[in-house]
Amino acid sequence: MVIDTANHAMLAILNKDADIIGKPLLQGIPEIEGAPAVDMLFEVFNTGKALDGNESPVPIFRNGILETRYFNFSYRPLMDDSGIVGVMDIAVEVTEQVLARKKLEDIIAEKTELTKTLRSSETRLQGILDTMAEGVGIIDATGQMVYANSMAQRILGLSEDEIKERTYGDSRWRNLRLDGSPLPDDEHPMTVMMQTGLACYDQEIGVQPPDGERRYISINAAPIFDEQGTLTGGIGTFMDVTNRRKMMIQKDDFISVASHELRTPVTALKASLQLLERMKKDVNPEKFDKLLTQANRSLNKLSDLINSLLNSNRISQGRFPIHKIKFSIAELIDECCQHVRTVGKHDVIFSGDLDLQITADEQLLDQVIVNLINNAVKYAPNSKEIKINIAQHQNYVKVSVSDSGPGIPPDKIKHIFERYYQAEGGTRQFSGLGLGLYISAEIIHKHGGEIGVDSEPGKGSTFWFTLPL
Ligand code: ADP
Repeated sequence: MVIDTANHAMLAILNKDADIIGKPLLQGIPEIEGAPAVDMLFEVFNTGKALDGNESPVPIFRNGILETRYFNFSYRPLMDDSGIVGVMDIAVEVTEQVLARKKLEDIIAEKTELTKTLRSSETRLQGILDTMAEGVGIIDATGQMVYANSMAQRILGLSEDEIKERTYGDSRWRNLRLDGSPLPDDEHPMTVMMQTGLACYDQEIGVQPPDGERRYISINAAPIFDEQGTLTGGIGTFMDVTNRRKMMIQKDDFISVASHELRTPVTALKASLQLLERMKKDVNPEKFDKLLTQANRSLNKLSDLINSLLNSNRISQGRFPIHKIKFSIAELIDECCQHVRTVGKHDVIFSGDLDLQITADEQLLDQVIVNLINNAVKYAPNSKEIKINIAQHQNYVKVSVSDSGPGIPPDKIKHIFERYYQAEGGTRQFSGLGLGLYISAEIIHKHGGEIGVDSEPGKGSTFWFTLPL
């Protein structure tokens, strides 16, 4: 393995002078020892089999520094009759190409990594947008909707295909002011934002989808600017506030119902007191007694109403302790019916397990039973009989109050135990606050029982509750 000859190009590649010729290979170029290309050279010498190398790294001194250079080469054994006498090495340096390709590969790897990161953050963002409780809609500079997340689709009743066709002022989704009148386009928060370039927050509007229920949404609208500061579109985030609005409307309605209810006994009380005042000097004992009874009745009515209001508040805040004692349920019901019997318009008929003793809060149960009986009297005035049944089951007792009044339509039954609910709506046909059944249900639930109604229009109603024994 002595270097027999080397042309100029080979010397230039190895960065050596011609004095390496005549020296053993590893003595002339010691730095290449251990490089795979050198091992292969020895292999060819030992085996006599030709080998080729491609882009093989070899350490070479250049400008006093040991650098890795790359070569394509072919090793051919030189033979004579006695066998292998040497190896011919034809080498081409391809360092520049290899380095250029490596750089390209690095750039591609970096780009791939970047795309991966981008894709994963895109997936994360999409995940957030998909699970957000707010609707998100993006419009372009012309007002055309270009994106709406799942919640936006749900709130607006939009399908994926419809999104592309919709502008926020699309007439099929009628935008409404809070008073229900049509919302002019230039009052829409997105238009205001696009016209002024200023964000606006928490603007409530109504939206009537093509075939859906009217929704109320609270919109935040923010402009999107490009790097030159040109307005290129807008992003709207909106929340379905239909329930919040419904509750506000319900509260307003309730205040008007409650004021009306309170005014009736107050007016009557005022009238009785004025008449009593006028009678001061010349008292007519018979009239005096009558007016006093009337005044007391109005005052009791007023105090009942105030109690209902207080109870409903306490109950909704979960503030009502129960004190259980053992008592006869039939006796309690009997007491609760006294006032109906006294008036004499209805017959109260008892049946079932009249000897049953139960353990419960007597005062609270009194309230429930009085409410059910009073409702039967109030809402079924023409029903002559009110039937009360006490039935003992294996581990609970069921008390039912039946009337043969007008009954309750099925769509109203599901709301009947809700706070403030009155099936007649705002007709004010009957007095009441829509609290009686709500309070009753809370009391029964607190005892671990259930409450319900079986009713059909025209066939009367049976209100019932159960208590665990
Ligand atoms: P209120 O105090 O206004 O009477 P309730 O909570 O006691 O309110 O009752 C709620 C609604 O249930 C009433 O507005 C009425 O429409 C309906 N309702 C209750 N009892 C009866 C009944 N026996 N027959 C028909 N409707 C009833």
